Amino acid sequence: MTEPLLKVRNLKTHFPVMKGIFRRLVGTVKAVDGVSFDLMPGETISLVGESGCGKTTCGRSILRLVEPNSGEVHFRGKNLPELGEAELRATRRHMQIIFQDPFSSLNPRQTVGDIIAAPMVLHGICNQVEAEEKARELLAKVGLQPSYASRYPHEFSGGQRQRIGIARAVALKPDFVVCDEAVSALDVSVQAQIINLLLDLKDEFGLSYLFIAHDLSVVRHISDKIAVMYLGRIVEFAERDAIFENPAHPYTQALLSAVPHANPRMRKERVILTGDVPSPIKPPSGCHFHTRCPVAEPICKTEEPVTREIKDGHWVTCHRYAESSDIIPMTQLLAQRRSDAASLSNDP
Ligand code: SF4
Repeated sequence: MTEPLLKVRNLKTHFPVMKGIFRRLVGTVKAVDGVSFDLMPGETISLVGESGCGKTTCGRSILRLVEPNSGEVHFRGKNLPELGEAELRATRRHMQIIFQDPFSSLNPRQTVGDIIAAPMVLHGICNQVEAEEKARELLAKVGLQPSYASRYPHEFSGGQRQRIGIARAVALKPDFVVCDEAVSALDVSVQAQIINLLLDLKDEFGLSYLFIAHDLSVVRHISDKIAVMYLGRIVEFAERDAIFENPAHPYTQALLSAVPHANPRMRKERVILTGDVPSPIKPPSGCHFHTRCPVAEPICKTEEPVTREIKDGHWVTCHRYAESSDIIPMTQLLAQRRSDAASLSNDP
């Protein structure tokens, strides 16, 4: 059986909240609170959820751009949180990141050729002259003119700058790339081009992606599996089609009900979530989602639900599901509740 390329186990990243002139500890932001999943070679997992759910911190904690508090991240046989500085730097060659804002992630004082060549020289893959040649080849590969190597980042559009960021990320021939909201800042037509480019490069270089996004229609095109996050935890994890065709968690169902359909005749019933995401400093008791869940039960306020595998490879964290449960569409539950309430009020 193939071993996972990346194994994340119970990863936690908490940030202290200090206040006052004595910097007293007044709380903790649980940005990532016990995340676990496996990423297989050549696979793309998307991490989705509303802003502030912890998906970006999760991606950065995996790469140790943010230090996690606890948990394990196994990559190429090493547990990353245990690695020393030198070993981590050597391993980082195989893990790269593409940032959301391509402009601030590119050094404005370096030419594009130098930006792409620098990591190859730094990691001793080749000398400066060879690296510059490879940088030109990579520019061609991401759909830019090789002659652009002598230009500076401010001379490019947002989409072109993201292509440069991608060329820099694949320059070291990594196995694993975190795409941190890599297309969120781009126009829709440019988003499609960048997604296609990422898919082509995945095939050519055999890459595995952790694709962080909040736009579910984008995620549909690139993912093999999807992890839905809420307040620092994964609440549902499954194959892409299982999530889109049969979402089980009420939060996933609500998110998907807001995705517009290409065919306007195929109208779905919207599930509108009320209120904002609660503060991760003081998450609600029991199920963190109970304050917004339209189908919450009394148990949801007091007991944390456990994560169960309800179908093959389909994991859900919700009291409504036992192992091997059928999926309950929330719209059906809400309709049932409405009809029960109507028959009660009609009773003499
Ligand atoms: Fe809603 Fe309860 Fe399930 Fe949480 S555990 S998602 S509150 S039904």
